[in-house]
Amino acid sequence: MLKAYRCKNCGTVFRPRRLRCINCKSREFEEITLNHGKLVSYTLIYATREGYQAPVKIGLAEFEQGVKFLAQLDCENPEIGMEVIAVNTVNKDNGNNLLILRKP
Ligand SMILES: [Zn+2]
Repeated sequence: MLKAYRCKNCGTVFRPRRLRCINCKSREFEEITLNHGKLVSYTLIYATREGYQAPVKIGLAEFEQGVKFLAQLDCENPEIGMEVIAVNTVNKDNGNNLLILRKP
């Protein structure tokens, strides 16, 4: 799940969390979960770092409140505009925890 932070004073949402709200300067935030996003764009990366099997799909998704999130995309036939969710998983190539995008 994708976590974001909403300003308690004006409602502006940020990811990652900021020290102060850029809209009202408040320092009070609440953590929220963003459930559904739409794929805005994606690309295939063939020149990967060690431990990653090429090609790696990278997707840019826009979630509720206008929050954009860039992450590895785990689906066979991505289409711009399709619905995606952010899911916690473990990278099968190197065992690291990561947050990825996939179809709901
Ligand atoms: Zn604010």
